[in-house]
Amino acid sequence: MKITGAEFIKQFESVVPLDLAEDSDPVGLHIGTLNKPINRVMMTLDVRPDVVQEAIDKKIDLIVAKHPPIFRPVKHLLVDDFQTKMYADLLKHDIAVYAAHTNMDIVDNGLNDLFCEMLDIDATDYLRQTHEYFYRKLVVYVPTTHAESLREAFGAAGIGAYHDYDYTSFSSHGTGRFRPLEKAQPAIGENNELTSVEEEKIEVMFLPQEYPTVLSIINEYHPYEEPMFDIFPLENISKTYGIGRIGILPQPMPLLDFVEKVKQTFGLNAIRLTTDTKDKQVKTVAICGGSGEKFYKDALKKGADVYITGDVYYHTAHDMMEEGLSVIDPGHYIESVCKKYYVDLFNQWKQQNDWDVTFIESDVNTNPFEII
Ligand SMILES: [Zn+2]
Repeated sequence: MKITGAEFIKQFESVVPLDLAEDSDPVGLHIGTLNKPINRVMMTLDVRPDVVQEAIDKKIDLIVAKHPPIFRPVKHLLVDDFQTKMYADLLKHDIAVYAAHTNMDIVDNGLNDLFCEMLDIDATDYLRQTHEYFYRKLVVYVPTTHAESLREAFGAAGIGAYHDYDYTSFSSHGTGRFRPLEKAQPAIGENNELTSVEEEKIEVMFLPQEYPTVLSIINEYHPYEEPMFDIFPLENISKTYGIGRIGILPQPMPLLDFVEKVKQTFGLNAIRLTTDTKDKQVKTVAICGGSGEKFYKDALKKGADVYITGDVYYHTAHDMMEEGLSVIDPGHYIESVCKKYYVDLFNQWKQQNDWDVTFIESDVNTNPFEII
């Protein structure tokens, strides 16, 4: 089955939602359009001139990138400048670019969870909370004759699921009153006559993303031309999300052995280590792929023996050492494991939905650093 870029991204965003990005992180469609058929999609960490050339050569229709290619506002779109020439080349060859950045780090089963899995870290928490979502409450008034089927439809659709319970609701009974006017087509009662109906008031909690389902169930199961219902925001938290992860190793191990494990896992010749002592055991490990030095105090607060993150700045390293936090900096490029991880996932969707699309990983190494 042929699909459009929009259809693919709809599926992608159901797994990596845009609203989980940090504020002002420019995620989403960056270049081109999603309103076109797609045959070939390429996953990349970075969009660099070499990657754009690769996309042109491989006839790519859509690039999915971890790092947003337009990070700072573009003031001039010139082909004499290497950065903006990339944008022009992408437009010229009708290659769309979509970016999923911090939302890929924050979401459950995202990149930080993948790192934990690769390093045998049993992640128990995030490092810093970034998002919290609240329940909503629906109060709907329905003739008692139709209450059972409406409640059943909510429950079957998962509306009213709360922790380890589902089909939760509360009902009370009363009288609904209305007068259908001239043009009304009432399910019960006559035009221009005051009508009263024995009604059930059903209260049920739901998640914000379930709102369309709630509306469609009311439309389908409520007999009235104008169903009466209220929706309230609640302060009950449904779920929190955060960036980075912290968890424990199956058993404590010497710091230098763990360093070796990180090197092997990511295929690195060298890593940077900051520690006040090499002679320590590590059990609790915090990690934030990419540049996570700004979360090092969260790692300390949550009891990390060692923190893995890239791009650690010289003076911050002094502070970390002074505060007794050992830090492993494996570089930012370990994030390139996202290419295989997501292409594997895209291929699962392809199989499940019988999509006629080819998904490939970018072959270009975009690591600007070499150990020589
Ligand atoms: Zn990054």
